[in-house]
Amino acid sequence: MHRLLLRRVGVPRGREVIMTKSERKAVEELRKAVQEVNRDYPLPRCAHGKALQDHSGAKLEPTCGCRLPAPVPIEEFGADHWSTFGYIETRIVDHDGVPAFHHLRCLAARHPLFQHRGGDAGRYPTKLKGGRTLYDHDDWDCLDDLVAAGLLENKGTGANPVYCLTPRGEEIAGKLRAHKGRGGKWDEFVPPTVAK
Ligand SMILES: [Zn+2]
Repeated sequence: MHRLLLRRVGVPRGREVIMTKSERKAVEELRKAVQEVNRDYPLPRCAHGKALQDHSGAKLEPTCGCRLPAPVPIEEFGADHWSTFGYIETRIVDHDGVPAFHHLRCLAARHPLFQHRGGDAGRYPTKLKGGRTLYDHDDWDCLDDLVAAGLLENKGTGANPVYCLTPRGEEIAGKLRAHKGRGGKWDEFVPPTVAK
């Protein structure tokens, strides 16, 4: 009986825990599920690789002192946000909303899944309207800001994003095209204001 009980609960033996076959299977399945979640829904991380948010959306406070930045509001979108929006609009029209990873500025530490050769965003920080520069912020962050501003929706997963335009996004994309068609610069674009 005692032995049976030990087999049921498992006892530590060194670093190993004795488990029954079905318990081992349950633990293995749980471990796989956690891995899948981490792969498909990667957490936002700082330049030190620490998660800044958990899967419930709660903000974390790692010891390095980094914190999840608030999304950049649409009024502050500059050349990088609007060119990223212009880019993703063409991907939505021609490629079902799937971005090409090598087309986007990427900080490897922030978005390790999207890192690619030749695109180190560290050398090209995000420029905001009025000339303010945002370090530790890449085109994937711009896309998150565009989602937060209500212009885009991600109907894929965190690891395999698939974007579509919201009605507001469609309206602004039209204006942005017209602005560019007239020879306007990305950072000079002023989105139409909307009554909330
Ligand atoms: Zn950090």
